[in-house]
Amino acid sequence: MNVFEAVKNTVTARQAAEHYGLKVTRKGMACCPFHRDRHPSMKLDQRFHCFGCQVDGDVIDFTAAYFGLSVRQAAEKLAEDFGVRYEVQRPLDRGKHKKKVKAESLEQNYGKLEQICFSILGQYREQLQFWKVHYAPKRPDEEWDSRFCEALDRLTRVEYLMDVLLHSSVEERVELLLSAGKEIAGYAGRLQKSEAGTAGSSENTSG
Ligand SMILES: [Zn+2]
Repeated sequence: MNVFEAVKNTVTARQAAEHYGLKVTRKGMACCPFHRDRHPSMKLDQRFHCFGCQVDGDVIDFTAAYFGLSVRQAAEKLAEDFGVRYEVQRPLDRGKHKKKVKAESLEQNYGKLEQICFSILGQYREQLQFWKVHYAPKRPDEEWDSRFCEALDRLTRVEYLMDVLLHSSVEERVELLLSAGKEIAGYAGRLQKSEAGTAGSSENTSG
């Protein structure tokens, strides 16, 4: 039994209130300590309820509010003041276990993120390679197509990012995704599925 259950099973709100100095009438009424109460408007029993300010709760809630403690601190204070025995939990062990689980799921999530980024980069590179050929200016005086410019601007960068993801240590890859994650997400917005899909056939006819 943990401290919360043990205290609630042993001490009533009324007992705690009396122990901590509240005057409780035979009918279980007391002046509420949580608002300016001249005539007893708080009913105390197993739990407590104030008909004036509407606060209520169990013995632990009462003690927490009365002394300004957290519920755990209040439960431990009650256990000490009323000699309640309870099983001590080991928060350290629990914390370790939680951390381990968290770290594992983080690793899994990172793996997924890396796959997604690599896939975006791969598709974008394919599209840029297609644009570089397909939208290349055919005459010297022709105005350059924006897609051709984008291909010239970005191809080297995209190939560099893919190279890091393929060949670098995990530390370098994490650093890359931290610094270039937004950039890669932006590339996803540049993907044009229909045009990239026709890349192969167009290249065949033009080449
Ligand atoms: Zn009240």
